Amino acid sequence: MGSTTSPSAKIILVSGINGYIASHIGLILLQKGYTVRGTSRSGSAHAHLVSGAFKSHADSYQHAIVPDITTPGAFDDAVKGVHGVIHTASPVDFNLTSVDAFIGPAVDGTLSVLNSAKAHAGPQLQSVVVTSSVAAVVDKWRLPSDHAYSEVDWNTSGEAVARETFTGPVAYGASKAAAERALWEWVTTHKPSFSVSAVNPGVVTGPPVSFPATPEKLNETLAPIWRIYSGDKTLPPPIGGASYIDVRDVAVMHIWCIEHPEQANGQRYIMTNGKAPPQAAADLLREKFPDRDIIEGTPGQGYRKDDYWFVEGEPSLVANKAYKALGVNRFIRYDKSILDTVEAFESRWPEYAENMKKTQRVD
Ligand code: NAP
Repeated sequence: MGSTTSPSAKIILVSGINGYIASHIGLILLQKGYTVRGTSRSGSAHAHLVSGAFKSHADSYQHAIVPDITTPGAFDDAVKGVHGVIHTASPVDFNLTSVDAFIGPAVDGTLSVLNSAKAHAGPQLQSVVVTSSVAAVVDKWRLPSDHAYSEVDWNTSGEAVARETFTGPVAYGASKAAAERALWEWVTTHKPSFSVSAVNPGVVTGPPVSFPATPEKLNETLAPIWRIYSGDKTLPPPIGGASYIDVRDVAVMHIWCIEHPEQANGQRYIMTNGKAPPQAAADLLREKFPDRDIIEGTPGQGYRKDDYWFVEGEPSLVANKAYKALGVNRFIRYDKSILDTVEAFESRWPEYAENMKKTQRVD
């Protein structure tokens, strides 16, 4: 599987390139000298990226429109000649209203890209990496409330729970588990010549490189940070168990899997760095921006303020395997991730957040 071809001669396909995580992956690949071929459902993503995040690398960027990732053969053209595939496209919209609206594109999109890769990419293809989630790992309904999760664990209950009583986040988790199970079953059946791996991030934060038109259109994990920063009077609910990870570390892990096919083959990697619910962002932002009116909630509740590590007696999901693979002890801390995020918001949308406290006039 190894190869000495230089990055500049290699094409990496990234599905859902306009997404929060994928645009980071794309930008790092371009900076490393790869040619990136991104896919999106609409054509507008191409212009948005080459005039924005990928502007300095437009010559190394190719774009393919894949209107429906669930169609068999949807990626047949897009995979031709690629050396690596990073499949990130999957529904991440908690406003979807049925379990199948999540599971359909998650599972069929994964199978579609795998089948296209096997049949049409060519013998130079070395690695396929799929963005899964800790939601495919954590099963709070079945496992003890202080379970120490690792890559051997699976969310096997979420789909039944979501079909019984629908909520977007539970259906989302079920879709990630179903898609990753489909991935490994496909590998067992098809025994591909290329390496296959999964990356399982917790709740991702960190500065975006590609911005939507307005903050209200931020993705599901940055939108709560914007709402807190801009003075929303309601604290957003935690997403899942609130394990956190910075988007820059998530991007690096995907690329590590692409570049280490022998080590990454057949592996899944939890990507977390501790626990930080929205209360942690509210506490941090109130402290750093005392002039802003930022929700108080219940300060300090539900997390460890000193180190944002997992709380004793609660579930933990330590990324030991990913730390080891990348040769680090820890990833980017939550406070840095959040402060870098709001700095990016402020530079993109200066003064859009209007929650400055009124100064008291003293005569
Ligand atoms: P995002 O910015 O909302 O990106 C989602 C991407 O998926 C977009 O590129 C979107 O494509 C594509 N997509 C959504 N529904 C689709 C459908 N029905 N058919 C085809 N493409 C579809 O979210 P993100 O946070 O970067 O998520 C990217 C991946 O990371 C997902 O697989 C997600 O499950 C996974 N993940 C995210 C987190 C997190 O905390 N953010 C944590 C763990 C795992 P268009 O541009 O065409 O709309």
